[in-house]
Amino acid sequence: MKVTFLGTGTSQGIPIIGSTHPVCLSENPKDKRLRVSVLVEWDSHNILIDCGPDFRMQMLANKVSHIDAILYTHEHNDHTIGLDDIRPYFFRQGDIPIYAHKRVLDSLKKRFDYIFEFENKYPGSPGVQVNEIQNEPFKFKNFEIIPVNAMHNRLQVFGFRLKDFVYLTDVKTIEKKEIEKLRGVKVLVINALRREPHHSHFNLEEALEFIQEVNPENAYLTHISHQLGFHEEVQAELPENIFLAYDNLKIEL
Ligand SMILES: [Zn+2]
Ligand SMILES: [Zn+2]
Repeated sequence: MKVTFLGTGTSQGIPIIGSTHPVCLSENPKDKRLRVSVLVEWDSHNILIDCGPDFRMQMLANKVSHIDAILYTHEHNDHTIGLDDIRPYFFRQGDIPIYAHKRVLDSLKKRFDYIFEFENKYPGSPGVQVNEIQNEPFKFKNFEIIPVNAMHNRLQVFGFRLKDFVYLTDVKTIEKKEIEKLRGVKVLVINALRREPHHSHFNLEEALEFIQEVNPENAYLTHISHQLGFHEEVQAELPENIFLAYDNLKIEL
C-alpha cells in the first residue's frame, strides 16, 4: 500500500491569500499546504479520501491516471468542493464510486444537484455511483474498509482504517470504543491545527496525547494551520516516530 499526502493544510490553505505571516511567506515547499486529502494506492486501486478545492492541481501534480473510489470524511467545503473536477476520470471510466454518510451525500446533492440528476442530465456533467455508509465495515472490491466515528465539535465525521493505515481528520473528540478500532495500526494520520486550542480541531497537544493512546508505529500530522509554525521547527520538536506531513509526501506500508 502506498499513501500520498495530496494536501496537508487547513481550510484556507497555506499561504493564506494576502497574508504577511512569516509562515505564509516561507520559501520552503514544506510550508506550502493545499487543502487536505490523501490518495491510497491499494494493489492497483486508487482510493481518494476527500476531494477538496485543490483536487485538480493535486491530481496533476501526482499524475493520477484513474480513481476507483472517493471516501468522504464530512461535508465541509475544504473536503468536498472538488467533485466537479472528477470529469476527466468520469469520461474515461464512467460513474465514479463515492462513499459517504447520508448527511454528507445530502450535502453533495445540494451543492452538485446536476451531478445527481438522472433525467435530462446536462451533457458533460460527471456521474457518480453512490454508496451510503454507516459506522460499519464495508467492502470495496475485496478490501475491507472500517469507518471510525469521531466528532468535529458537534459534527460527526468519519475516519477510515484501510488495513494497517488509519486516516482521521477534523477530529476534536473520539469515543473509547472507536479508539479500539485503531489497535495495532502501523500508520496513523491525525489532524493537528495549531498550538492554541480550537473548538472543533485537535491542537498539537491533543493530537500528541491521542497518538500516545493509539500507539501506532508511526504517526503523521495533517490539517495544519500557518499558526502551527515553520515545518522544520515544529518537526524538530516532535518525538522520533511522529512526523508533520507535507504536500506530496509518499509513504509505503
Ligand atoms: Zn477541514
Ligand atoms: Zn471540517
